[in-house]
Amino acid sequence: MSSAELIESRSDADESGSKGTGSGISIKGLTHRYGRGAAAVTALGPIDLEVPPGEFLVLVGASGCGKSTLLRILAGFESIQQGRVEVAGVAPVPGAGSGVVFQQPRLFPWTTVGGNIDLALKYARVPRGERSARRAELLARVGLEGLASRRIWEISGGQQQRVAIARVLAADTALLLLDEPFAALDALTRDRLQDDLRAVSAESGRTSVFVTHSADEAVYLGSRIVVLTRRPGRIALDLPVELPRTGVDPDELRADARYVELRREVGRAVKAAAA
Ligand code: ADP
Ligand code: MG
Repeated sequence: MSSAELIESRSDADESGSKGTGSGISIKGLTHRYGRGAAAVTALGPIDLEVPPGEFLVLVGASGCGKSTLLRILAGFESIQQGRVEVAGVAPVPGAGSGVVFQQPRLFPWTTVGGNIDLALKYARVPRGERSARRAELLARVGLEGLASRRIWEISGGQQQRVAIARVLAADTALLLLDEPFAALDALTRDRLQDDLRAVSAESGRTSVFVTHSADEAVYLGSRIVVLTRRPGRIALDLPVELPRTGVDPDELRADARYVELRREVGRAVKAAAA
């Protein structure tokens, strides 16, 4: 069973529907500053954005335009100074409604690959008796079968990032927040993880916000693309991506005329917005 199927079967069992299905996001008049007085830097805004449940939103923009700031606000890591932000109808609370993957994997170095997944399953209140089967499925999903007993320092950076992704999938939160998670990986590993993430998100119905500076990655992954201007980041372009999300061959998709045109349009917009 794939983790996506697993997520589905689990949400069937979960009558409350609070897990396994997506959370909507509502952002109104959001502005964010760092520092005070003359030293203050306005990083972001004003931004208004409504994201329906199940969307795979990709935020694209040049370095320093406020992408990570917006993601951290959605994760509840930054306090909101001006405007309103809601995830599933409430102000974001760290660790409660979302799972975060950073550019560098932040794993627990004192335990194994499997131990990192187990902790997430435990935190997600998966019963002890189900954990080892779930762990095996999640590790297989990210291509790490057989590595459960390895220490974190015994695996490569790409494998560590896979563990980080398996860990957020284990947490089964309705919102996934991903901050350039593939930026430090080699091209082959990145392609494979992009495929996996695309499939998992399309099948699971979770809401995702994915940050990148790559127009190609944006068009490949997104069901919607928002391009931010340079700092303070504002919305320069908000585009739906009308490409099939399941049952597609990655190479065929990349060769699709609509894909090529969209990538050109987003690439142009990113460049223009950064100028
Ligand atoms: P991005 O992720 O798009 O590269 P960030 O959200 O990290 O951009 O940063 C946006 C702007 O805010 C940048 O100019 C950055 O230097 C500034 N910034 C980010 N974090 C802090 C911080 N903790 N203190 C002061 N300035 C910050
Ligand atoms: Mg960033």
